[in-house]
Amino acid sequence: MRLLLVEDDDRIAGPIMEGLVRYGFAVDHVKSGASALSASPAALVLLDLGLPDMDGIDVCRALRARSAVPIIMITARSEEADRVVGLEVGADDYLSKPFGVRELVARIRAVTRRTHPERHAPPRTGTTGVPLQGSPHARLPEERGDQHLGPLTINRRTRGVTLDSRPLTLTPKEFDLLAQLAGDPGAVHSRQQILDTVWDPNYFGPTRTLDVHVSALRRKLGDPSWIATVRGIGFRLTVPGDSAYA
Ligand code: CA
Repeated sequence: MRLLLVEDDDRIAGPIMEGLVRYGFAVDHVKSGASALSASPAALVLLDLGLPDMDGIDVCRALRARSAVPIIMITARSEEADRVVGLEVGADDYLSKPFGVRELVARIRAVTRRTHPERHAPPRTGTTGVPLQGSPHARLPEERGDQHLGPLTINRRTRGVTLDSRPLTLTPKEFDLLAQLAGDPGAVHSRQQILDTVWDPNYFGPTRTLDVHVSALRRKLGDPSWIATVRGIGFRLTVPGDSAYA
């Protein structure tokens, strides 16, 4: 697996590259936004937000505009606002400096699993071997084809979503969030359930991240009532105008 590391500070890039190579990754290293955008395609991008020539957020947005490559932002503590914007423009995750290589590798694996779920991890089952309720694999009849919810169509194999037959462009996280809620339409999904499934079982970042993604998804769906907030608990998917999911 070839990664692209975009980091202008050699004191940070050096140990990261050394560590990743030790874990069996191949790493291309560039030091500017311009060279990140002209680099050959990678399986995943590690993107420092503080770059000498361009705002890392703009680099993230440009990368996302042309591909679904997983992006993990590398940020300094002072860039907290940027992290939220970065997630909004399509980054999949972020790490705050300083971090260890084991943590980085865990994030790379988690992000890769989420964006290419079919290549990893067997279907999740409960101790009885029965698919867990609400897990991505609890929806066997729909796994192979389209799920229709009013004007919304979700295809988990192609990760394609259409609304009134028009394709929606969702980030990997937005798709996972929608797929999770659509796995049991009308049911309440707790914030923790969503963070565990869509982010990481050990997710410890700001929970505002979830709200940012919910807002972005509502905007793209064109009607905020698609995703109802259940105060103090979480969210549920409703189909506007369809009393079956009200
Ligand atoms: Ca930097």
